Amino acid sequence: MTIAIIGGGLSGTLTAIHLLNRASGGTTVYLIEQDRYRMNRGVAYSSQLAFQPLNVPASAMSLFPDKPQDFYEWILEHQHRYKGQLKGTVSATDFISRSIFGDYLKARLQDAESGAAKGVRLVRIYDEATAVRREGKAFQITFRSNEAITVEKAVLAPGNFPPGHLPIPTQAFYGNSRYVASPWAAKGLSDLPADAPVLLIGSSLTMVDLVGSLQAQGHRGKVYVVSRHGLLPQPFDVNTPPYPRLAIPQNAPLSALDLFRFVRNEIGQAVANGYTWRSVLDAMREDIPAIWQALPTQERERFLRHIRPYWETHRHRMPAASYDLLQRLQAQDKLEVLAATLIDMQDTGDAVLVTIKRRGEAIQEKLAVYRVINCTGPQCDFTKVEMPLMRQLLADGLLQPDAFRLGLLTSHNGTLLDERGTPITGLFTLGPPRKAMLYESTALREIRQQARELVQELLQGDNALLRAVQVA
Ligand SMILES: Cc1cc2nc3c(=O)[nH]c(=O)nc-3n(C[C@H](O)[C@H](O)[C@H](O)COP(=O)(O)OP(=O)(O)OC[C@H]3O[C@@H](n4cnc5c(N)ncnc54)[C@H](O)[C@@H]3O)c2cc1C
Repeated sequence: MTIAIIGGGLSGTLTAIHLLNRASGGTTVYLIEQDRYRMNRGVAYSSQLAFQPLNVPASAMSLFPDKPQDFYEWILEHQHRYKGQLKGTVSATDFISRSIFGDYLKARLQDAESGAAKGVRLVRIYDEATAVRREGKAFQITFRSNEAITVEKAVLAPGNFPPGHLPIPTQAFYGNSRYVASPWAAKGLSDLPADAPVLLIGSSLTMVDLVGSLQAQGHRGKVYVVSRHGLLPQPFDVNTPPYPRLAIPQNAPLSALDLFRFVRNEIGQAVANGYTWRSVLDAMREDIPAIWQALPTQERERFLRHIRPYWETHRHRMPAASYDLLQRLQAQDKLEVLAATLIDMQDTGDAVLVTIKRRGEAIQEKLAVYRVINCTGPQCDFTKVEMPLMRQLLADGLLQPDAFRLGLLTSHNGTLLDERGTPITGLFTLGPPRKAMLYESTALREIRQQARELVQELLQGDNALLRAVQVA
């Protein structure tokens, strides 16, 4: 059996780990990563920002659901290597740096590689996959180097793409050196005069990392944050009591408003019984895919338009220390969070003149900043992704983005659907592209489950064959 995994981030690496752990002899796993430094780290865990804590505590970052303390135990064992980065002895409730988590991921892949059954091998390919074409029942993968491989099964694990540009009249601004399109690279903060005002577009967790990193490098200039709603992620509470699984309403058709009311009532009852809203939201997480799939199209649209910003800021929380930092900076007037629409951005030579319109106001205002960093979150619309592989797959009808452009359509096991909605046997995806089907599909908790199930699927035919051989 030959299996190629395109993308060496968390999704791809974890798939490779499970394959190495479970495949029998005669299996070759190709793990393909275009960026050498991102191999086994991906975008999230290769960050070189000065401030980049995981957004969940160490005790909740195990790669393996059946070994929930695996990451915590690993970091306890290896903490001596990170003396400069860790404050004293690690505790289960610490928010460890993402780059350390990347080391853990890499280490667990090495463990799986050395423990793999005889005849099971991992081949790392450092190249960009530029095309995947059907070749009978197999797939031919072509690389930027013009090399090619043919495999029986392929997994697309392309992860998080850089944010898309906002629609402004002065599109030429996006070619300007004062504009940073990808917020995850440390170079966005380099050569920045300490007193320079900066604009961060979007108020997501990435914005929080950038504010923290600016502080860590001694930045003194004003930081503006502009987002349509101006809502900040809520703080994490490590003492959140676990809440029982919810009895989600089964009435059909389900509406976004019904759901909203249900959750609000449930929170009311939970709080009266000593729980918090966090307990309820955490308890809902497992049911999100089923809820999303039960919502009619119009209700999904309502959710995305009216409820999404509140869901996202409560579901994706920041460490309490980051929350305190943001509060302090706002009180000192060093950070200003504006609920506003971004109208335009122009380089005047000395500065970037940013035109905004605050929510509920008729008049436009101007901000003068030195640099603009796009923190609006990963581009999920595959029709807008400027990567040769995605363009080719779309052009050949091998991908189908969903109507809301959250990701890609798949069958229940992650098999990609072609443009006609037919499953492409042997071609799978996991992680962020599955947001279209599952809504929650970007965090470790969801990805580790998907990777485990996907490997079962990938090896199914193979194990059946092996069993048949053993019986014979
Ligand atoms: C900044 C950031 C912080 C996060 N922090 C957390 C956290 O603390 N906890 C949590 O649970 N989740 C976190 N997440 C969520 C995150 O989505 C997942 O944890 C996870 O990292 C996603 O992994 P992935 O492998 O799917 O994607 P990615 O990490 O994006 O990896 C995909 C990889 O595929 C490669 N690739 C893409 N196309 C090709 C191609 N054609 N050829 C070769 N290689 C290709 C890319 O170079 C990339 O390295 C964070 C996300 C981000 C962006």
